[in-house]
Amino acid sequence: MINLNSISHQYPKGQKIVFPDWTIEDKEQWLLLGASGSGKSTLLNIISGLLKPTEGLVKFDEVSLYNLSTRNMDKFRGQKIGIVFQRPHLIRSLTVLENLEIAASMAGCKFDKLHINSILKDLGLSEKTDSYPDELSQGQLQRVSVARALVNKPTLLIADEPTSSLDDENTVQVLEMLTAQAKNNNAALIIATHDQRVRNHISKAYLL
Ligand code: ADP
Ligand code: MG
Repeated sequence: MINLNSISHQYPKGQKIVFPDWTIEDKEQWLLLGASGSGKSTLLNIISGLLKPTEGLVKFDEVSLYNLSTRNMDKFRGQKIGIVFQRPHLIRSLTVLENLEIAASMAGCKFDKLHINSILKDLGLSEKTDSYPDELSQGQLQRVSVARALVNKPTLLIADEPTSSLDDENTVQVLEMLTAQAKNNNAALIIATHDQRVRNHISKAYLL
């Protein structure tokens, strides 16, 4: 599904970061491991079509990502990739359900109410569809971010350091939620982390 070939990136003034080649097949679950500053977020941005690497080729379903026009790239990202951000990026003036609706419409996807209701139910959020972000706990907000990442039925779910600010118990819960949701939604999963506690939950690991 995804193929990274001879990728490296150099930020202006920065050192060149060289990334090992990587192939991710449909529905595979991977950890992206590396110390802070090793380039994990950089690589996730490259895979998501948000950052063109200075060298190398990113192929997604046989499409060379950085040959797409900006417009097609945005469309592609919106439809194929769900990103769970480290801190939830929700619109405060909109309810949970409205936040999910807008995520669908921005990607040009049809809002599949049955699908989204089943995700919200799975994530224990059925009672919170009409709540505003300010009315939710941190854990609930994180689950809404996962729901939002899944709303467009992506083939790849990405989470960047989803457990770094959590205690052990919540870390296990978030990992179980991400792996289960990826599986139920037939999506591949990449979790970037420097958190050693995460290691025994997912077998495949790509090291930076
Ligand atoms: P990680 O996510 O593993 O902590 P990052 O990908 O964020 O690592 O960063 C890798 C390296 O690139 C670091 O040295 C960081 O300072 C640098 N870097 C990250 N983003 C930028 C940027 N927008 N501009 C310049 N340098 C950056
Ligand atoms: Mg990072």
